[in-house]
Amino acid sequence: MQTIRTLLIFLVGVFLSGSLLAQKTHNEPLFGKSQAKVQVTGRRLKGACFYIVSGHGGPDPGAIGRLEGHELHEDEYAYDVALRLARRLLQEGAEVRIIIQAKKEGIRDGRFLANSKRETCLGREIPLNQVERLKQRCEAINELYRKDRKKFTYCRSVFLHVDSRSKRQQTDVFFYHAPGSKQGERLAQGMKSLFESKYGKHQPNRGFSGTVAERNLYVLRNSTPVALFVELGNIQNAFDQRRFVLANNRQALANWLTEGCIQDFKKK
Ligand SMILES: [Zn+2]
Repeated sequence: MQTIRTLLIFLVGVFLSGSLLAQKTHNEPLFGKSQAKVQVTGRRLKGACFYIVSGHGGPDPGAIGRLEGHELHEDEYAYDVALRLARRLLQEGAEVRIIIQAKKEGIRDGRFLANSKRETCLGREIPLNQVERLKQRCEAINELYRKDRKKFTYCRSVFLHVDSRSKRQQTDVFFYHAPGSKQGERLAQGMKSLFESKYGKHQPNRGFSGTVAERNLYVLRNSTPVALFVELGNIQNAFDQRRFVLANNRQALANWLTEGCIQDFKKK
């Protein structure tokens, strides 16, 4: 009797752990073959939903920097950070919608990311006209959000860009929110403080001069879910370039952005 009971408990255990594990794995081909499988290892973002949007794409490369004879295209670097961010958010139990997609790229570890025009907006071709392009991604987000808002109490869209300024200007990271958005401002401020503390730890002599501001940008005004717009650095500046040319640094940016989302989600 005892043995049968032990065996039953064992079998139930195997069944439960099996089904729990089955629930906790995502398969996202956009991350590339080696990263497609995503094990959900945390619950800190359970109930949260994110729209991750890398800037530009398709016919528009965004800002272009130069390093060692290579062209650095904003859309490729923003996209790589976007994928890494999306993956981390999934690991923490969030629902994630990757709005700008490139079927073949995946998460890339190289320093120089090859340029392509293959990006789409959820599979749809990205128009060249700027207003049309921004309108397309906002409509994509808002359409998903109409359903998501019934399921999730916390939805945020995150727009990732790399700035282009004069070569000498080192810019750190800028966070923008929509004019008058209290929740957007809270998320942006939280991100800024988190980045300050990370820079304090990793580069204590340098300090951090990133800022938070409201900005009257099309995507901030037209995203129905609360939105955050991030400029990850100046693509022209040699020091800033290190921030996104090294894969480890792109991953660090994604990790910190994830932590910022977790902190904000806790405050909701
Ligand atoms: Zn941009």
